[in-house]
Amino acid sequence: MSQISERLLVQAHLAAKQPAPLNDAEKADYKARIATALKAHDAVLVAHYYTDPLLQELAEETGGCVSDSLEMARFGKNHPASTLVVAGVRFMGETAKILSPEKRVLMPTLDATCSLDIGCPIDEFSAFCDQHPDRTVVVYANTSAAVKARADWVVTSSCALPIVESLMDRGEKILWAPDKHLGGYIQSKTDADMLLWDGACIVHEEFKAKALIDLKAVYPDAAILVHPESPAAVVELADVVGSTSQLIKATQELPNSTFIVATDKGIFYKMQQAAPGRRLIDAPTAGDGATCRSCANCPWMAMNTLPRVLQSLEQGANEILVPEELIPAAVRPLERMLEFTSKL
Ligand code: SF4
Repeated sequence: MSQISERLLVQAHLAAKQPAPLNDAEKADYKARIATALKAHDAVLVAHYYTDPLLQELAEETGGCVSDSLEMARFGKNHPASTLVVAGVRFMGETAKILSPEKRVLMPTLDATCSLDIGCPIDEFSAFCDQHPDRTVVVYANTSAAVKARADWVVTSSCALPIVESLMDRGEKILWAPDKHLGGYIQSKTDADMLLWDGACIVHEEFKAKALIDLKAVYPDAAILVHPESPAAVVELADVVGSTSQLIKATQELPNSTFIVATDKGIFYKMQQAAPGRRLIDAPTAGDGATCRSCANCPWMAMNTLPRVLQSLEQGANEILVPEELIPAAVRPLERMLEFTSKL
């Protein structure tokens, strides 16, 4: 997908009519009704770190899970509930369904996608793989079920590095998709032979190195935490580079009292919980003319709201369905990842 089409797609989402903000009484009412509906439908709420803090709070209060995409996948697979409500973006719901085809998987909306997923269409990706049959195909979790079904391995940002290292130790050459920044970062850390697909996250790609240097000058004692979906020039300025879970851990382990954070700021909810009293500053993005309107907030993650969670539960709406014929091939690389990470 070209950068122009990505930009138009994001702008369409940003321009879409946003629901009026809820007042405190409405928030409490929705939370209580969702908690009741979860019990009534034998359901559990699984939320990503980038979703609205209200959803993260509700997932925690109702025995669900708030985590990165690797742990969301593991939690959904192992939890006994017959319905999983996945608050995140579409590939997360699909991953849950592939790992637990016997469960019903609902999402607050089916329109929440990801620029990495839509930038890696299966036909083009499959043709790319066909051109390089000698390479092991490693795809990021942020891909469609069809792309996963074409892969040898699925990875997330929390396990990509050790998995690529182990493949390299076995002498394998890698075809990597879709995030060129994460792929480039792993290549620089491992020196692995990697052929990269040209995809990017429209949120992380907006972080700017020059503005980050200027901000660091204002807060010289701050530690810079960067998600590796960011451009290399931003990653180079980091004190810690890591997945969402690894960045949260860094706020607990580093002695600094201030952190400049280059990832979606939905993560601040868990960072504040993990390291209370620390000052968190979002890393600078590109301003109002940028693709993501300088928000450091994924427009698709923001589509997950309390009213939509309730509606999906009460009406059984937005059920994720994955074509049955894809599941055996898509589950293999996912299970490989879960098995590998269970030994780390
Ligand atoms: S933050 Fe980026 S990688 Fe994550 S869902 Fe949004 S577009 Fe995709």
